[in-house]
Amino acid sequence: MISGANWQEGTLGDNLARAGVSRRSFMKFCGTMAAIFAAGTPNVGEAAAQSLTPSAEEIADKLSAVKKPKVAWLQLQECTGCMESVLRSGGTTAEDVVLNLVSMDYNELLMAPSGHAAEKALDDMNAEDHILVVNGSIPTGEHGAYCTIGGKSAEQVLLEAAEKATAILAVGACAVWGSVQAAKPNPTGAKGVDEIIKDKPVINVSGCPPIGEVITATLTYVLTYGKTPEVDAEGRPKFAYDQRIHDSCPRRAHYDAGQFVKTFDDEGARNGWCLYEVGCKGPSTFSPCPIVQWNLKSGWPIGAGHPCIGCTEKDFFDQFTPFYDKLPGIPGIGVESSVNKVGVGLLAATAAGTAVHGGLTLVKELKIRRSNGEEKVLAAFGGVEGRKPPTVDLPSNSPGTQSETASDSKDN
Ligand code: SF4
Ligand code: SF4
Repeated sequence: MISGANWQEGTLGDNLARAGVSRRSFMKFCGTMAAIFAAGTPNVGEAAAQSLTPSAEEIADKLSAVKKPKVAWLQLQECTGCMESVLRSGGTTAEDVVLNLVSMDYNELLMAPSGHAAEKALDDMNAEDHILVVNGSIPTGEHGAYCTIGGKSAEQVLLEAAEKATAILAVGACAVWGSVQAAKPNPTGAKGVDEIIKDKPVINVSGCPPIGEVITATLTYVLTYGKTPEVDAEGRPKFAYDQRIHDSCPRRAHYDAGQFVKTFDDEGARNGWCLYEVGCKGPSTFSPCPIVQWNLKSGWPIGAGHPCIGCTEKDFFDQFTPFYDKLPGIPGIGVESSVNKVGVGLLAATAAGTAVHGGLTLVKELKIRRSNGEEKVLAAFGGVEGRKPPTVDLPSNSPGTQSETASDSKDN
């Protein structure tokens, strides 16, 4: 169980009342959390799922009685997209929960103090029990020089903040696996949180960014149960990530019927057909995107006509690029039996196949571009291989023009 001995006086219920959060809004929030906790058990039937997961009332009762915890939310080598995902989720999550249920005493984006006052806030936080949330990777190259806060490397900041942390959440692909910064050749030596913190469990809330409600639900789970959630082999909470996008996708019937979008402007695209042939990684990606969706369930990538890029999976940038290339290794697509062959057991092989396939394709494309200066316009966009890229006329005295001219004359 997570110790909360030094957490602040007053329960979350007291704090919500003080903050003017109505019972109705609170119950709506708890209902959303209950739905997300149930989302990871889609295959046991609705009744069984309900008996395995708490109701909104149970969550409300437990949350109301918990002491308001302190939270340190670090933003290391990242783009702030994960924090935006929470704050712009459009629901009650940010204002009423993240900012009212917890005491976010340290966060570079939201806190009022700066400079020495900000450093002191973190030092004070580190001296007490707290929940630690981390966005961003940890660059370890050049002795951590690529990301420093208050003169300390990101690694040092993380290690100090983790020492008295009662629970650690790595939020976003960067914090979980290093994401784009760790993509080959990983120039900053970027690592995920659990490659640095070895003596405590780290809950990996993956995605680029993760769905705001899933981040909040993970925090809520820790508060509600006083323990970390059950996780999968990648350290992700099972309640959210124990399901494949492909299995809940509304375009799945078109996959089974062999109806595929070939280019983003074709008849299939207009009819909402399956995006597998334009690069959808849904068959090997685990996330509740089709169920929870984004911005108050108003949309999600596949719903908007874009293939899944597999951002909740390990090293997705290396594994799944070029993003618009077809996921290889799925035999006999278009028939129901083949879908079941693409199970969890095949995912590693699929990912490895994708990496090899993707790597070879990329090398081939780069060769084409370097040899004749032409850009391959992906077929998925209705383009033609070998088409010239659009040109931009530079002013005659621009630096690029001068250096090209100089090197041209030197070569000649
Ligand atoms: S996971 Fe994606 S959204 Fe989050 S910080 Fe990294 S790049 Fe930004
Ligand atoms: S391949 Fe992608 S678009 Fe097609 S059914 Fe699967 S998840 Fe949906």
